[in-house]
Amino acid sequence: MSAPIVIIGASHGGVQLAASLRQLGCEDKIILYSAEDVLPYHRPPLSKAFLSGEKDLDQILLRGPAFYEDHGIDLRLSDPVTSIDLTTRRLAARSGVQNFSRLILATGSKARELKAPGSDLQNIFTLRSLGDVLRLKQAMLDARDIVIIGGGFIGLEFASTAAKLGKNVTVIEARERLLMRALPASVGDFLRDYHAGHNVQFHFNANFAEFEGADGKLHAIRLADGTRIKADMALVGIGGEADLALLAPLGLNMIAGGIEVDEFGRTSIEDVYALGDVAASANMLVNEPMRLESVQNAVDQAKAVAAHMLGQDAPAPVVPWFWTDQYDLKVQMAGLSRPGAVQTIRGDVEGNAFSVLETMDGRLVALFSINRAADHMAARRLIAEGAPLDMNLAADASVPLMKAVAKP
Ligand code: NAP
Repeated sequence: MSAPIVIIGASHGGVQLAASLRQLGCEDKIILYSAEDVLPYHRPPLSKAFLSGEKDLDQILLRGPAFYEDHGIDLRLSDPVTSIDLTTRRLAARSGVQNFSRLILATGSKARELKAPGSDLQNIFTLRSLGDVLRLKQAMLDARDIVIIGGGFIGLEFASTAAKLGKNVTVIEARERLLMRALPASVGDFLRDYHAGHNVQFHFNANFAEFEGADGKLHAIRLADGTRIKADMALVGIGGEADLALLAPLGLNMIAGGIEVDEFGRTSIEDVYALGDVAASANMLVNEPMRLESVQNAVDQAKAVAAHMLGQDAPAPVVPWFWTDQYDLKVQMAGLSRPGAVQTIRGDVEGNAFSVLETMDGRLVALFSINRAADHMAARRLIAEGAPLDMNLAADASVPLMKAVAKP
């Protein structure tokens, strides 16, 4: 009998891979290592429904408790892997040494640290895992003044949860607007105004200087220009980086801050795959390696890896997509924003239901929608098909987007 398939990391990508392998008929032993002590869970609700208490852990599990045993997946919780030897195909974990036939690295990403004076004070948090939320939730409930460093996805989702609880929320953003790398200005500015309407304060082009406190407790934060903002809790959401602590010594090719993989998740070493936040690859829209930190990317890469491992046809490439929920806004992104793309707005900005289309040579490359889920779904198809659009029809929100394809 061959050695087991070993997956390190039991979040969206790792769990999907184990499930897909079984679904496609894999009969090998599968071991799934998790450093966490709870069953694998959906991460997007952490900063929203789980943080607010609307959902508990049972309601955000990726799979029910019986799934792993029923599918012969040896899920090892609280079992961090501590070292890997690719020559002997063995790894060491808390539970002991394990050999493997094929190894899949799905270790995800971790929150970037803010190294600044005072960062060892209490009540300064990051938000990536369930444990993080359990640690910060009481501090959020007890706090009156909350400062969020970083106006990205985590920061804004947390801001909407905290603002709904009536907290005084201030967002410190280093750039001149929100989510500059991910969203067009029109959507970033819309979100800024929407948050401002919920009493969230913003500081843009802000240069963070230090956390201030006394007796170990946070009292305020200070910016480089001297601005001092009261804070009894701070959340740092300044981006993520691939979690490479365990993987750096393996000699894998690295690129764009992650492990270089091809469209099947293969690394530069045979029988070693990587997927999700930790992997960097070209995608169907951009022909250069990049890390995409999204649930969709992890899940779709896992499906491609499973098919390849079993010698089956890879699923069709998928248009990258992403979403964030803030207040009553469903913000969805299909495709990837490209420099030089033409932007067109359809819908009702004042009514909080609009989409921003990005086109190149008359073809859709990305669409950002606020409360227009049908546009988002249509965009995923139109981007994949590369269909030319009639821009007059595309700009008319009364016309379904699928009907805006230009007639030959
Ligand atoms: P992010 O979305 O990359 O946003 C971080 C923001 O903080 C950026 O605008 C960044 O500017 C800014 N920043 C960087 N350093 C700063 C500093 N010293 N002071 C003030 N601002 C600073 O990062 P995130 O919100 O921390 O985490 C996002 C990740 O969480 C995603 O990659 C995803 O994996 C996950 N997530 C996903 C969802 C979702 O799917 N809806 C929701 C929440 C979280 P620069 O651009 O210049 O770095």
